Amino acid sequence: MFKFKKSLLFILTSLTLVLLLSGCTKKQPEPISKEGLFLGTFCKITIYDEASRDILEKAFDRIEKIENKMTINKSNSEIINVNSKAGLDYVKVSPDTFYVIKQAKHYSEISSGKFDVSIGPIVKLWNIGTDKARVPSAKEIEDKIPFVDYKNILLNEKENKVMLKKKGMIIDLGAIAKGYAGDEVERVLKENGVEHAIINLGGNILTLGSKPDNKNWRLGVQNPFDSRGQHLGTIEVSDKSVVTSGIYERYIEKDGKRYHHILSPQNGYPVDNSLASVSIISDKSIDGDALSTTTFALGLEDGLKLIDSMENVEAIFVTKDYDIYITPGLKNNFKITNEKFKLKN
Ligand code: ADP
Ligand code: MG
Repeated sequence: MFKFKKSLLFILTSLTLVLLLSGCTKKQPEPISKEGLFLGTFCKITIYDEASRDILEKAFDRIEKIENKMTINKSNSEIINVNSKAGLDYVKVSPDTFYVIKQAKHYSEISSGKFDVSIGPIVKLWNIGTDKARVPSAKEIEDKIPFVDYKNILLNEKENKVMLKKKGMIIDLGAIAKGYAGDEVERVLKENGVEHAIINLGGNILTLGSKPDNKNWRLGVQNPFDSRGQHLGTIEVSDKSVVTSGIYERYIEKDGKRYHHILSPQNGYPVDNSLASVSIISDKSIDGDALSTTTFALGLEDGLKLIDSMENVEAIFVTKDYDIYITPGLKNNFKITNEKFKLKN
């Protein structure tokens, strides 16, 4: 009897303790978020911790600063300064801009110019993604090709100075600046104590930490045949950048033909290979952004080879035939949710 009472007492106290503890467990705070149009696209930051809205303001200030330094679509910026001194002089830029140009040049080098950050003259002819978009003539394209060559970007590391060797050259950071902005937003959030957040810069996603319940975030992988937000599958990640480049987002149509915005520096026309999109999963978003464009331009075989040679980078290649190729690190992670697509490796 005594024994029974004792164990009953034990059960009761444990039960109260459990109830008390669960009563004490902090409720998950409501996420806070902010949206805005920056870097030519829709941006949204969502913080899942107890946090002040000031942090969101700081994060958007950082995006705006980066845009103002690196854009070629406003009346002035550091990159516009560099471009306007092409063939004439070195221009001093901020460490931000120097770093992004240097990274962009690196990706131009490792892709032997399939990615080329000096593609500006060709981008300006097509203007895809703006209201001035058009299909230029073959002659116009031919005339601009000689101005595209990353080897003619001269960097002075000591003084953060950049010079374009030929007059008429134009640097365009459109394939990489959003990635850098994502990394910088992540840094600002972390410095302000944020542990769980989602940064979405025009479809470039950066997950900061895990979900508040310590599980991975489940992200949708963009379906390249559909508008943004339509998924072909899912992956689970924490603390990763997920960036997709493809034919789905910015394009124009003329005479029944679609022209998308990733252009060949060699022939000046939209890259035409078997690929519809590439998604890159990496630690830093600057790498993911550069690599999604780079591997798209390289094509399936060379793109896969490049990613296989890199550590901590995974990729999902989607072809125009709805075939999907993934890197080994995604084998037990990536799941197809749209049955039109078939995993081929
Ligand atoms: P998005 O910015 O739409 O997410 P990307 O990151 O793939 O897509 O970048 C595409 C942009 O990069 C183009 O709009 C253009 O400014 C630039 N670009 C186009 N072709 C190339 C290329 N071969 N190498 C480097 N940059 C490119
Ligand atoms: Mg890119």
